[in-house]
Amino acid sequence: MQTQLLIGGRLVAGEAAAQPVHDAASGAQIAAVPEAAVAQVHSAVMAAEAAFPGWARTAPKDRAALLLRIADHIDTEARAYAELESRNTGKPLAAALNDEMPSIADVFRFFAGACRSPQGLAAGEYLPGHTSMIRRDPVGVVGSIAPWNYPLMMAAWKIAPAIAAGNTLVLKPSELTPLTLLKLAAALAEILPPGVVNIVCGRGEPVGSALIAHDRVRMVSLTGSVATGQKVLMAAAGNLKRTHLELGGKAPVIVFDDADIEAVVAGVRTFAFYNAGQDCTAACRLYAGKRVYERLVADLTSAVRTIKVGAQEEPGVEMGPLISRGQRERVAAIVARAAASPHVTLTTGGKTRTGGGFFYEPTVIAGARQDDEIVQREVFGPVVSVTPFSDTDEAIRWANDSEYGLASSVWTRDISRALQVAAQLQYGATWINTHFATVSEMPHGGFKRSGYGKDLSVYALEDYTVVRHLMVKL
Ligand code: NAD
Repeated sequence: MQTQLLIGGRLVAGEAAAQPVHDAASGAQIAAVPEAAVAQVHSAVMAAEAAFPGWARTAPKDRAALLLRIADHIDTEARAYAELESRNTGKPLAAALNDEMPSIADVFRFFAGACRSPQGLAAGEYLPGHTSMIRRDPVGVVGSIAPWNYPLMMAAWKIAPAIAAGNTLVLKPSELTPLTLLKLAAALAEILPPGVVNIVCGRGEPVGSALIAHDRVRMVSLTGSVATGQKVLMAAAGNLKRTHLELGGKAPVIVFDDADIEAVVAGVRTFAFYNAGQDCTAACRLYAGKRVYERLVADLTSAVRTIKVGAQEEPGVEMGPLISRGQRERVAAIVARAAASPHVTLTTGGKTRTGGGFFYEPTVIAGARQDDEIVQREVFGPVVSVTPFSDTDEAIRWANDSEYGLASSVWTRDISRALQVAAQLQYGATWINTHFATVSEMPHGGFKRSGYGKDLSVYALEDYTVVRHLMVKL
């Protein structure tokens, strides 16, 4: 197994203590990855800085050619990456292989094309005798921090737009899930010029904190928790780094009385429990019209009971474990507090599975009220709450009454109502009669405590570039 860091185009062993990496489905240790010493974080930043002028001047078509090679490599090695990813995270192998790997390759292909056709204002003589034009140039060295829920995919969302735009990068995966990115590091050492992408492993403290505080880092991008986002902002104050934050969510799912309830049930069964609910867009906070509420709770409960929970390659497995013992304890504690409320009914789930691994049952909580913790707080586990609402205004008010603003969905057969409600929702994405799907061409990112960075799409390229005005006196 590849456990070395990538610094300045060379694979080197981390010089600090080894961190254990586990199989979340069995709990067994499967690797030990030596953490980067703080001096190695510095070397990685300096390597990225040294590579920056050359990479920034590379023609977009030449950068694109290298991104396409990365995509081809992911395709060729898809099975090996998927096996490694699912072995570490415990998620079903089929999900890693059929959902994540093709979309990772597509992200590199999308940015290979997008960096060749940047958009902007037309050049012109806005002051007589002077021609103005707009440039979009890279920011410089980007420090990126990735999470553990989709380890390689989140890394791809950070690497592809950053280097397509001409930046160089130092990226730290989560200490819980470094293995697929370390495998990619070996390929990047062959494909990219030295220093364009550097990979350092280790815990948030001291490795991540050294990266985000480094004064040669010009931009920090993070997908992770709100608490870490706040640390990024504090570290960014030192040299006024640009920041790009994606910090989770608590997606409202508004189900009107005229919705196709079968479609809602099938949708929530999939979109709330995919990746064991460890997804910042998970369809976890349901609001149901009073006429459909009872049926929705009953049908959803029956459907959720049929979700096949198990290890990576168990036949028919649909849902794997949570990422760690700590994450499972957190989820179990939130559910236990919710279930203790007299007005709440736990209709299915709510239990930790015994045996190895960090499994938690798919859980439905009915009758939750707007102020309840289960409605307000991100669980990041396989848990949905269902709350009845009286009218459209109440549904919109409750949906927006959240610290988060990432994803939402509206379910109704009335398209006018769907669009009117969608227009009033304070979320970066609103799906109508579906939930959850992302495509490389469209932005992913939110507002409020969900952060404000856009991943995917040309908006990510804009986030990773600076707008410059050039004026010529004629
Ligand atoms: P986290 O923010 O602690 O970890 C995410 C990444 O940040 C990891 O790589 C971690 O090493 C790094 N990090 C942690 N402290 C850091 C620091 N001081 N400086 C720099 N980097 C640091 O998140 P977590 O504890 O693993 O998960 C907790 C919660 O975060 C989850 O329950 C969920 O709410 C949220 N989360 C959200 C996403 C998402 O997709 N938005 C992904 C993972 C976790």
